[in-house]
Amino acid sequence: MPEPDAGVLAARPDLVRRLRAAVPDGVVAEEDALRPYETDALTAYRQVPLVVVLPASTAQVAAVLRVCRDMGVKVVPRGAGTSLSGGALPLADGIVLGLSRLNRILEIDYENRTVTCQPGVTNLGISNAVAARGFYYAPDPSSQIACTIGGNIAENSGGVHCLKYGLTTNNVLGIEFVTMDGEVIRLGGKHLDPEGYDLMGVLTGSEGLLGVVTEVTVRILPRPETARAVLLGFPSNEQAGDTVAAVIAAGIIPGGMEMMDGFAIRAAEDFVHAGYPVEVESLLIVELDGPGAEVDHLVERVVEIARARGAVTVKASTSEEERLRFWAGRKAAFPAMGRISPDYLCMDGTIPRRELPRVLAAMRDMEKEFGLRVANVFHAGDGNLHPLILYDANNPGELERAEAFGAAILRLCVAVGGVLTGEHGVGVEKRDLMGEQFTKADLDQQQRLKCAFDPKGLLNPGKVFPVLHRCAELGRLHVHAGRLPFPDIPRF
Ligand SMILES: Cc1cc2nc3c(=O)[nH]c(=O)nc-3n(C[C@H](O)[C@H](O)[C@H](O)COP(=O)(O)OP(=O)(O)OC[C@H]3O[C@@H](n4cnc5c(N)ncnc54)[C@H](O)[C@@H]3O)c2cc1C
Repeated sequence: MPEPDAGVLAARPDLVRRLRAAVPDGVVAEEDALRPYETDALTAYRQVPLVVVLPASTAQVAAVLRVCRDMGVKVVPRGAGTSLSGGALPLADGIVLGLSRLNRILEIDYENRTVTCQPGVTNLGISNAVAARGFYYAPDPSSQIACTIGGNIAENSGGVHCLKYGLTTNNVLGIEFVTMDGEVIRLGGKHLDPEGYDLMGVLTGSEGLLGVVTEVTVRILPRPETARAVLLGFPSNEQAGDTVAAVIAAGIIPGGMEMMDGFAIRAAEDFVHAGYPVEVESLLIVELDGPGAEVDHLVERVVEIARARGAVTVKASTSEEERLRFWAGRKAAFPAMGRISPDYLCMDGTIPRRELPRVLAAMRDMEKEFGLRVANVFHAGDGNLHPLILYDANNPGELERAEAFGAAILRLCVAVGGVLTGEHGVGVEKRDLMGEQFTKADLDQQQRLKCAFDPKGLLNPGKVFPVLHRCAELGRLHVHAGRLPFPDIPRF
């Protein structure tokens, strides 16, 4: 991060006064009270923010952003702070704009199958609000009990059920957001296919760099009539990887298809006793959902495909209680690692499904190279890997080694035709690896988009882009020999 802006630090008392005028009951300025905001779920990085502001309405968000624009103060939006890529990491010379007080469900419209709510409502809060009528919100990050729908939009979050039902971007129909100039803009609504450019697609996954989301309309779905989960154990990752590819190739789209390696299986089983086979090296949990007869038929087909590829354990759930138990191990896999290792880094890269066996084998070799262990628990159907690199921050140099290991895994993901992130975003964690995936021309083009929304670069700077050019510099890149390319178009 660059040195904090001395002018902004000096103007702090004036900033606090003006923010208190904008949000009288929502400004946190005392050192002790700022501490809880110093990190998100990428806890290796910490920075106490200049001030925290907790607005309670869109109008207050707009007023705060205008104050910051006028005073040249940077703004880091924050939902629940569960980002694993450091997206909500504060800046010493910036405010944290916490959206947690904007936590009301505004409308449930069963006829149109939508929920409209404020950005601080938790992901699970949406499903809970419509559960009594048999509905739910499909994208289900493992952090769903805590993470907010605003954060989900900023990260384009996913989860176990996104293979069949899509990521956040496929389930959001409308948003209201506020620009750095304090303008309130609405995109989409309850209808499909919003008009004009797909700006909602641009905002979704923009990691708080383009605008602050203040209202959201999402699609809700009726709960499937039946769901059954099948546990499939294999002697090798290759056989499990082949099974994943073969299931999809057969035209079956499971509600979820997760994979765990031997290390993760044994850690999870020790922790929650989900009934996992501890002798296998690879486990698939495949969930089929829909009408009962269809689900029973699909379970048979998946089992057939798996047996043909060497599955040595096959267990299909026969009750809802058993289905939930099968999932309990997967859901507890991260905390299970916490019992084994004082710290872990959770990586997030995506690869073409057919590369799963090769990449998992390469990670085993890297374990030796970096001298650290890795457990794999991931969304196999999407090819979205979550290697958990175990380390102990108390051992000098181990965090750095874990980060180098993580970077090597992400480089490998890109090398086999994948991408740097599946659902956790770039943040600060993968920022300096962006050049592995994008050319300078790609990154310049992305920054032009950033400049169109936030020309002064005040919204969440230091995230996503390895080098953030000043917008004026970017504008000059295509001006040749001092002449404007289109002299008749006025410039501002
Ligand atoms: C145990 C654990 C499991 C997880 N599992 C998953 C998983 O399965 N799938 C997955 O996708 N993620 C997962 N995550 C990551 C994380 O929960 C998601 O990225 C989530 O969407 C972040 O939401 P949040 O409210 O905590 O946002 P924050 O962490 O507060 O912020 C995340 C980013 O969004 C921006 N932001 C937040 N709110 C707004 C807003 N209203 N307007 C504009 N920008 C905003 C922030 O500036 C930041 O860049 C997991 C995290 C943990 C700790």
